[in-house]
Amino acid sequence: AWEKKVRSSCRVRRSPNGLTVLVTGAAGFVGSHLSATLRRRGDGVLGLDSFNDYYDPSLKRARQAFLEKAGVFVVEGDINDAALLKKLFDVVPFTHVAHLAAQAGVRYALQNPGSYVRSNVAGLVSILEAAKSANPQPAIVWASSSSVYGLNSRVPFSESDRTDRPASLYAATKKAGEEIAHVYNHIYGLSITGLRFFTVYGPWGRPDMAYFFFTRDILKGKPITVFEGHGSAHTVARDFTYIDDVVRGCVAALDTAGKSTGSGGKKRGPAPLRVYNLGNTTPVPVSELVNILEKLLKVKAIRKVVKMPRNGDVPYTHANISLAERELGYKPVTDLQTGLKRFVKWYLDFYSPVKKGAVKAHGVIATE
Ligand code: NAD
Repeated sequence: AWEKKVRSSCRVRRSPNGLTVLVTGAAGFVGSHLSATLRRRGDGVLGLDSFNDYYDPSLKRARQAFLEKAGVFVVEGDINDAALLKKLFDVVPFTHVAHLAAQAGVRYALQNPGSYVRSNVAGLVSILEAAKSANPQPAIVWASSSSVYGLNSRVPFSESDRTDRPASLYAATKKAGEEIAHVYNHIYGLSITGLRFFTVYGPWGRPDMAYFFFTRDILKGKPITVFEGHGSAHTVARDFTYIDDVVRGCVAALDTAGKSTGSGGKKRGPAPLRVYNLGNTTPVPVSELVNILEKLLKVKAIRKVVKMPRNGDVPYTHANISLAERELGYKPVTDLQTGLKRFVKWYLDFYSPVKKGAVKAHGVIATE
């Protein structure tokens, strides 16, 4: 029955490129949106997720329920389980892996350093090892992060900028991942594309991210802590990027990796290693994020403004996306106001007291 579900989930319908994609972290925020979008396009998609409890696992289960309706089966398992990966690659000739499983979050690393090393470093190696030995050899598109720019003072951040001053263990593991990707590309000719996401937000988002818990706490009348920077770097701002824009960038990266590489069994020499910024190019101060939420929620926030502690966060992110524009046709189209409106609509609907606890049978995921 298991194998039947796997095969049915991976059956390619009509699709422009007919990809067969293993999506790791499929019950996560970005992974669930990407899986649904690919499946809707007709690509074969199999999810893999450990459903860990870094944040509310019932939200991950609700995403899974959505995906099952969309025809995507999510296997429960760990990316470090080599036997499981071998079994999956033996059953399905994946053309691509969208590797999104990771231990995310910057501050959690202060208490849980091991989980970052296990999922983001050992886990990536485990995926690359499985891909290396698979026949056909899939192209890998994986999530790096804007956090690799660390304490870089040059804005906007370009892919060629220095990344040798990470501010958190999370950032350090993402940076290590980029170096590891280089090795697997160099030695084995694996096609690998790294995507540096910039603060992704939207419906079905992550409860550990500020826009999400600000919304929750503002609605509850609880004070929220808003960080401000130090000295000349006074403004704490993020290049908030809407989920659908990021998903379009991921799909473009998958389509491009499929076309331009020597993977899929053909011997055309190693495909070049690729790294792209997927941001929005418009940093917004966190104080402005709160202003927008207040208007949308029609509730005044109780703000506690404090100096940013040295806890792994960086004061400012801002993407230069010209490389992704040129090579992937990436073009973000959603401003923060519009994206937050969609998030708030989803939030109120999902957490409305009437429906609380129920997995909804309808709704919108990866809205266009
Ligand atoms: P998420 O936490 O919602 O999704 C990650 C998923 O991976 C989770 O469902 C988790 O259960 C799963 N997972 C974690 N460790 C695993 C393991 N060892 N084996 C199997 N599954 C495992 O996070 P997200 O926001 O969807 O992020 C997706 C990717 O994008 C991550 O790699 C993250 O580091 C990266 N990223 C996200 C953002 C953002 O703003 N959301 C920004 C930069 C980078």
